[in-house]
Amino acid sequence: MKLVYTHENKILVENAKNLLSEHGIEAVLRNEFSSGAMGDLSPMDTWPEVWVNDDAAVQAEAVVAALKSAVQGPTWQCAHCHEENEASFDVCWQCQTEKPAV
Ligand SMILES: [Zn+2]
Repeated sequence: MKLVYTHENKILVENAKNLLSEHGIEAVLRNEFSSGAMGDLSPMDTWPEVWVNDDAAVQAEAVVAALKSAVQGPTWQCAHCHEENEASFDVCWQCQTEKPAV
């Protein structure tokens, strides 16, 4: 197995996993439920992770690279809850309010 994506925001990690599934790549989440029990672990250790089989790793990394470049636009702030959202989100990840038209 190979780690192809990790992020502190679980929504983004699930998004990456779903995107891989759409490309026919079987991916599994790890650390999915660990954020409530951080204890002595460093925050990095508790980020949810997306893992794929070794034979799918090259393709998966290409998908993730495309995902990351899509995410790298300007973030936007939700008008409802003021949460910051990634550029690729069409609705607020926290409250589902639609992205304001620019
Ligand atoms: Zn919001």
